[in-house]
This record gives sequence, C-alpha cells and structure tokens, in this order.
Amino acid sequence: MTGTKYAHTKEQSAEFLRQVLPLMSKQSAALHPISYAVWYEYVSGINPDIRKAVDDVSANGKTLDEDTVYALYSQHVAEADEAKVQRISASVQEVLTNLSLSAQQAGEQANQYGSALEQWGSQLVTPAGTETKSSSGLQDILQNTGLMKESVDGLKSRLDASQTQIETLRIELLRAREEAMSDALTGLLNRKGLERTLKEQLGPDMTLPGNLSLLMLDIDHFKRVNDSFGHLFGDKVIRAVAQVIKGNIKGQDIGVRYGGEEFLILLPLTPVDGALVLAEKLRSLIASSRIKRINSDEMLESVTISIGVASRQDGEVLEALVGRADEALYVSKSNGRNRVTAAAAMAQDLVQVPARQTLPRQTSCYAEMP
Ligand code: GH3
Ligand code: MG
Ligand code: MG
Repeated sequence: MTGTKYAHTKEQSAEFLRQVLPLMSKQSAALHPISYAVWYEYVSGINPDIRKAVDDVSANGKTLDEDTVYALYSQHVAEADEAKVQRISASVQEVLTNLSLSAQQAGEQANQYGSALEQWGSQLVTPAGTETKSSSGLQDILQNTGLMKESVDGLKSRLDASQTQIETLRIELLRAREEAMSDALTGLLNRKGLERTLKEQLGPDMTLPGNLSLLMLDIDHFKRVNDSFGHLFGDKVIRAVAQVIKGNIKGQDIGVRYGGEEFLILLPLTPVDGALVLAEKLRSLIASSRIKRINSDEMLESVTISIGVASRQDGEVLEALVGRADEALYVSKSNGRNRVTAAAAMAQDLVQVPARQTLPRQTSCYAEMP
C-alpha cells in the first residue's frame, strides 16, 4: 500500500517476518504486535533510530523486556507517526494557502476585467432605444464575467473554510501532543514530556549543558498513606507534593512526575550548592505540613520525602546523571528517609546533607481528608 510507512510488497514483508521471528523469540518480551512493530521496523531498515536503540540494548548484553519494548515503541514508532502527521498537515495547509491566494487573485482580476468591460460598454453610446449587436454581445460577456467572478469567489470561500478546518485540526493535534506530554494528576511533565522537551531544547543527541543539577524525589512510605487513607487520598497527596514543587521552581527549571510517587526536577544553570538549597527547602516544607481532616482542626499525619541530588559531570549523559541522583536517593532512604543526599562523582563519596533547622509545624495543611 502506498502512503503508509510500510510500503512493502507481500514478498518483502514475508522476508522481514522470517528475519524477525528468530530475533524476537530471543527476547523476554512477549510476541505481541507492539514487539512485532519494533522488530519489523528494525529488520526492514525503515527506522534508523530504532536500529540504533535496539543495537545499544543488545550491546549492553541485555534482552528486550516488556518495559523496554514499550519504551522503544512509544519513543521511536508511535512518535515517528505523529511527526509525520504534523508534516503532512503543514504541507496541506501550505497548498491550501497558495490555492486560496490564487483564487483571490483570480477573483480580483475578474473584477477588474468586469469593470473595464462596463466602462468600455458605457463609451459605446447608442441612440436611446436602439440595441446594436455589439452592445448585446457585450451584455453577454459582462454577465459571464459576473458568473465567473461568483464561482471564483465561491471557490475562495470553500478554500478558506478548509483552511480553517485544517487549522483547527492542527491546534487539536498540538493540544493532544501537550496532553500526551503532561501528567493528568499533577500537571507536571511526564517522562515522555521530559524527553521531548530536552530533545527540543538540546537537539536529538541531548547533550546536557554544564552547571545542570538534578533532584530525584520520592514520597516516603507512600504505601502506608494509601493503606491508611485510601488511594484517592493518596492521589491528593501526590498532587499536593507536586504543588509544592511547582511553587518553588522557576524559570528554566523543569518539574517532572517521573513515576507513581517519584518526581524529578532538572535545574539548568544551577550548580550543586543551589540544588541542595532547593532540595532541603522542599524536604522541610513538605515535612512540616500536615494532613488535616476536612471540617475539623484535627491534624492526622505528616508526609515526608527523600531526595537525591546530582550535578552533571563533564560529558555525562542524562541517563548517568539520573542514575547517580537515584543512588543518592537510595542512600537517603536507607539512612532513615526524610533527608537529602548529594551524589558525588563516586558512590562512596555520597554526602549526607544536614537537615536545616526544622520548620515550625504549619497550621495550613497540604492535603485534607474527609
Ligand atoms: P519508600 O519510602 O521506600 O519509597 O516506600 P513507599 O511505600 O513509598 O514505596 P513503594 O515503592 O514500595 O510504594 C509506592 C506506592 O505508591 C505503591 C503504589 O501503590 C503507590 N502509587 C504509585 N502511584 C500512585 C498513584 O498515582 N496514586 C496513588 N494513590 N498511589 C500510587
Ligand atoms: Mg516511596
Ligand atoms: Mg518510589
């Protein structure tokens, strides 16, 4: 079929199937259509990005598990389709704009031609009541010119309407893209949003600028919060923590809901000292808040978070930076939670950040329960 990215004959696709089966069977992921799409694009060579990504996984001696297959699919297969829709909609829009412009010019020319004919006709003065052959011929031409102008005008307004429709579709597509990039519960970016934002800002190889720090945050004992107060209330706590994050980052900082009760904050142009100050501020703000029962002053619980902080080293890629922040977070957890740990170059150099003087308990609460 033409017009799709899989423009292969039955014979070609049968050959790809033969090549895919042994490759796909070696992986731990199940043999579902998502897996097949990844491997089909791999063997057919239509998607160089997926070839590189899969080869990278294999080079690390790993096989593709479910999570990896889904991540590869959403990053390299689904996203490529969306980029194509964007490109097609932009070209259709351009064609329509040009057509509409031509129709407008044609309409204006028909107008001018009609006026010229009218003027010319008025100069062919015939004695009153006498109709010459040439003046009735002129009437016909004038009438036809009028009809031509009407149909050109009609064409133009239909083209304008299509253009408006395409513009509406384009805006809907952009909105859908934004929705896909952000987390519905908190309004923060999700992981996909983080990746796209970084690709847009830093280019496809995502070379991180120097002086960039990263915070990994995880709500402590969150299972207990869910178990004690219910999942819906748990959601409120996640949203409240996200609010505290949003309220304390600014400018180029990027806040991300990285997982269920995990957050990531990227701070460009921020050396480690500044990142640690923010981390400690967030930790103490959250620890000093309380869960309050609605319509009563009874305070129930406090929620705490643990944080790991890492600053980019020369040549470090995002994955490695996240890895070091994650290690530091793990140390915060194992040292008793509700604390900030700074990652240094080596894991054994992890630095425990002393808690600032504890803030007075807040009278305001960050989450309420019935
Ligand atoms: P730790 O201090 O070691 O982080 O303990 P924890 O209980 O927070 O960590 P664990 O990873 O064991 O549990 C996380 C829990 O978060 C489990 C999961 O049910 C819950 N969770 C994840 N996403 C959501 C969500 O969107 N809403 C709610 N209410 N709970 C969630
Ligand atoms: Mg947790
Ligand atoms: Mg967690």
